[in-house]
Amino acid sequence: TIRTRFAPSPTGYLHIGGARTALFCWLYAKRHQGKFVLRIEDTDRERSTPESVQAILDGMEWMGLDWDEGPFYQTERYDRYKVLIDKLLEEGKAYRCYCSKEELEEMREAQRARKEKPRYDGRCRNRSEAKEGVEPVIRFRNPLDGAVTFNDQVRGHVTFNNSELDDLIIARSDGTPTYNFTVVVDDMDMRITHVIRGDDHLNNTPRQINMIEALGGEPPVYAHVPMILGSDGARLSKRHGAVSVLQYREEGYLPEALLNYLVRLGWSHGDQEVFSREEMIQLFDIDEVNRSASTFNPEKLLWLNQHYIKDSSPDYVAQALKPLLQARGCEVNDDATLEAIVVSQQERAKTLVEMADNSLFFFQDFDAFDEKAAKKNLRPVAEEPLKVVKEDLAALDDWQPEKVHGVVTAVAERLELKLGKVAQPIRVAVSGGPVSPPIDQTLALLGKEVTLARIEKALA
Ligand code: GLU
Repeated sequence: TIRTRFAPSPTGYLHIGGARTALFCWLYAKRHQGKFVLRIEDTDRERSTPESVQAILDGMEWMGLDWDEGPFYQTERYDRYKVLIDKLLEEGKAYRCYCSKEELEEMREAQRARKEKPRYDGRCRNRSEAKEGVEPVIRFRNPLDGAVTFNDQVRGHVTFNNSELDDLIIARSDGTPTYNFTVVVDDMDMRITHVIRGDDHLNNTPRQINMIEALGGEPPVYAHVPMILGSDGARLSKRHGAVSVLQYREEGYLPEALLNYLVRLGWSHGDQEVFSREEMIQLFDIDEVNRSASTFNPEKLLWLNQHYIKDSSPDYVAQALKPLLQARGCEVNDDATLEAIVVSQQERAKTLVEMADNSLFFFQDFDAFDEKAAKKNLRPVAEEPLKVVKEDLAALDDWQPEKVHGVVTAVAERLELKLGKVAQPIRVAVSGGPVSPPIDQTLALLGKEVTLARIEKALA
């Protein structure tokens, strides 16, 4: 069976690039009824934080990228790495290196002076005796000749000459294993068949393949996905705006929109833009991923978000909206009302934040009127229609949208005003601003008591 893994280092938030890698790994496993493994590469103890681990787990969960196995933590596997480091030492496939910092620096200086690329020259390869008082690092004995070739699913055939690779440190002098080694051990132990990752790891791949072979394993298939650029052509980073997955949740995006956006970053299927989760699983293939970098386009993401807000069921959108309202101090205890609020705005909201901000007045009184809207629609201009409509609404017992609508139109007719000249003042009076769902729905949702109290306040 196909087994993929997502192997983030928990040294920051889960960013867009990582999320896309995770999505590709997940899709590939799903598509082939395989398994998707989550592995936390936390061996960099200084930079790894529990908050970052949590952000990764939360982000994955929010996107619905469920893993079949894990999360595994590399810091819990040190014993295993030690066993294999000792094995390589014993078999002569790794060796102890006693070179001091100064010695290494001197070596590199000399190489630079000869216009050579600085690299470890293997001077401890054949050393038989230890150096007094020095804790050695352990280096992998990389083959000296030949080449490493692999068939990358995205880039095609890739070849590195062994003469370009030096003897990598696989354990530091304190005994802890290094990144390239732990990846290799884990990919083998976890029986990973397809390594899908960012192409910033391409240079690690020949080294990893050599180590896998030294350990008697079979290299997986590799797919190196090109990076994501900002609109200015530079690698996507914080200064291009929200790059953390959870930040998109906070900014009112639906996970479907983000997933749909991410799947199209570097992959396409004809000119189709909208993909349901099921369609993605059916259609995605790793060898169709583009070789060139893709550019992050926030407008397109926003467009997809609007599409999914409009297209999702009201109760789904309502449940996604709820925490945003709660975060804004609203007490939301009636799901039916919340759904109705959603329905009244689904057609035009671009984000859930926009929806939440435009819905606050349903849940709480506002402090001040929008100045411009008040000037245009409240006193003195609309004093008369507001007074009249307030009285007629007060007399209405059956507080249904159609009945409310009837009252508002009747007042407009009686006063010989256009409907808007009555409806807009009411809207500003009850919501504080110039935008709200249709007035009859708005008032029906607010209820009679609140409606009358707010019109009264606007008249005061
Ligand atoms: N932990 C690595 C990273 O976060 C990924 C390693 C891999 O996918 O092989 O960049």
